[in-house]
Amino acid sequence: MKITILGSGPSYGLPSLTRGFGDCDPDNPKNIRYRSALLVSDKGTQVLFDTPPEIRLQLLGVKNRQLDALCYTHYHYDHTGGADDINKMVQDQNRELDVYAQKQDMNYFIKYQPYVFKDTYYHLHEIKFYKEFKVNHMSVLPIQQHHDDIFSVGYRIGNFAYSTDLRKMDKRAWNALEGIETWILGGVVHRESKKHVSLDEALTWIDRLHPKRVFLTHIGTHMDYETLCRKLPKYIRPAYDGMILNIKT
Ligand SMILES: [Zn+2]
Repeated sequence: MKITILGSGPSYGLPSLTRGFGDCDPDNPKNIRYRSALLVSDKGTQVLFDTPPEIRLQLLGVKNRQLDALCYTHYHYDHTGGADDINKMVQDQNRELDVYAQKQDMNYFIKYQPYVFKDTYYHLHEIKFYKEFKVNHMSVLPIQQHHDDIFSVGYRIGNFAYSTDLRKMDKRAWNALEGIETWILGGVVHRESKKHVSLDEALTWIDRLHPKRVFLTHIGTHMDYETLCRKLPKYIRPAYDGMILNIKT
């Protein structure tokens, strides 16, 4: 299984309009971060996770743009702003696309972007937390996460999981993540917030799950690439745009 980090940035992107690069070294291209998205490819099947506002630019660098499914983590703009670009792409490819989201997000999509999501090339499927669904041969498990006053969706595929935009998880979520080897953990912030886990607490989470390797994504102006690399143990690395992970399944 191949995982491409299409974007590793926070909701405001990096550099941001108001904060610039903040504490991040502007000379290191790894600190230029589009909003967060992932592409998972395995045996010819491709699943896209989220459609951030820069998804068009992010996918220009990817050769194979045929998608089998699109999975949403939640409806916030930094994860959905590019939804129409993918709808148009699918239309031009003469395909249709299965789109998976929780009920709360589906309602939001249909209410605020009906021309993108209703009677289009997208086929919406409501996910049920902890009920696995199949994309061709790939089994995808949706996991419930607390993201301030809403839920976001984490996803597990085999021994890999993508958990972004979360403040905490219930016991069931922890159980669902047990045994993962590669964890992409996103929305890690430098200090406590209502929406996101802090780096200090994320390290205790990693201790608890002890995956073989962890990549931190959806990281902002306080998270300089090289500084994090120096500070963190080798099995925990910051992600960067364009990073490719090959995972044995
Ligand atoms: Zn976000």
